[in-house]
Amino acid sequence: MKQLMADYYYNLDTASENEKQKVAWCSSVGPAEILRSLGFLVYFPENHGAMLGASRMATDLIPYANAIGYSPEICSYLTSDIGAYLQHITPLSHAYEGISTIPKPDVLVFNTNQCRDVQDWFSWYAHEFKVPLFGIYTHRGINKITHILVDSIANQLKGLIEPLEKISGTTFELNALKRIVSLSRECSDLWKKVLNTAANIPSPLTFFDGTIQMAPAVVLRGTQQAVDYYKMLLNELKQRIEYHEGAVDNENYRLYWDGMPIWGRLRDHSEFFTQLNTCVAASTYCNSWIFTSFDPTDPFRSMAQAYTELFIVRSDIAKEIYLKDLMEFFKIDGILFHDAKTCAHNSNNRYGMPQRIEEETGIPTLVINGDLNDLRCLSDEQFKTNIEAFIEQLENIR
Ligand code: SF4
Repeated sequence: MKQLMADYYYNLDTASENEKQKVAWCSSVGPAEILRSLGFLVYFPENHGAMLGASRMATDLIPYANAIGYSPEICSYLTSDIGAYLQHITPLSHAYEGISTIPKPDVLVFNTNQCRDVQDWFSWYAHEFKVPLFGIYTHRGINKITHILVDSIANQLKGLIEPLEKISGTTFELNALKRIVSLSRECSDLWKKVLNTAANIPSPLTFFDGTIQMAPAVVLRGTQQAVDYYKMLLNELKQRIEYHEGAVDNENYRLYWDGMPIWGRLRDHSEFFTQLNTCVAASTYCNSWIFTSFDPTDPFRSMAQAYTELFIVRSDIAKEIYLKDLMEFFKIDGILFHDAKTCAHNSNNRYGMPQRIEEETGIPTLVINGDLNDLRCLSDEQFKTNIEAFIEQLENIR
């Protein structure tokens, strides 16, 4: 993993100095396959945002973005990332010797399937670097995915080709796109199998492992390296299952995490749940990079389908059906809903969903207040007290 991510970031760093190698910035569930098929190296600002969070640099950098008009209430990936740029700081410098800055974009492409914040985030950088910005505008709160929706997104994807050809200086080839969609599908299928190993009792991996292991599925989908990586990881997890090696010793309870991770507390939370013999076995977040609809024989429509059936874009009805299926599959005892202060889009507790799921399934739920990157929104004491009380509640109903 270390080598894979280092190669990825050093390649981007070198590209910044090479006029011929074009770099595209892409939102994490944006049309990366199209960009790769046109020869762009693809950089994902959200991965950088997560690094800012995990390195606990984010909280101090957010105020710099607030000072130029970006509210502390909006996405803390956005505010910490722009804050870091304004302060000429990047966690890439700590992780990879010789890298002093983020890669300069030749174009930025987002998809509003996840939120509008990516649009504003990318717009700021498009203005800063004076480069073109393109967006795919996805309908939100979708219940059933209809042909009309898929066609509308597929047409928007096709509309990107001509302007991107001009920027890349490469002629689009359908076969190149098909090959990349096929690799993305393979990566996604393997990632799904990796996550599904957690259905085993004891689970060989936790949600906290998943948040780290998902990096290639985000930044390298559509490449052979990601496919090779997940083949290796899956083999290792299968071995652990064979030897009954759980990620958590004496696994006693199995929880589900809905919503964003709290990046600056990953290790603390992982250790805390381990002490409680509790495995946070599955999550909405890690599952969000499973794209089973990718079909190389019909790349545009299948990409449109895959990027529109994402959990985050769906209606509460569709989300609840999905969650109930996962509770059964992963044999879950309780659900944690993370109410991330700066990401309403990934906080599913705000309109009665925990109560409805609890009523229908009998599975207890708990809402945790926190944030993905802004640690001022989290009380560590309260987090621990609430989780301990929740585990006690699970003990009492067994
Ligand atoms: S989904 Fe949430 S965390 Fe992700 S970019 Fe949008 S607001 Fe930020």
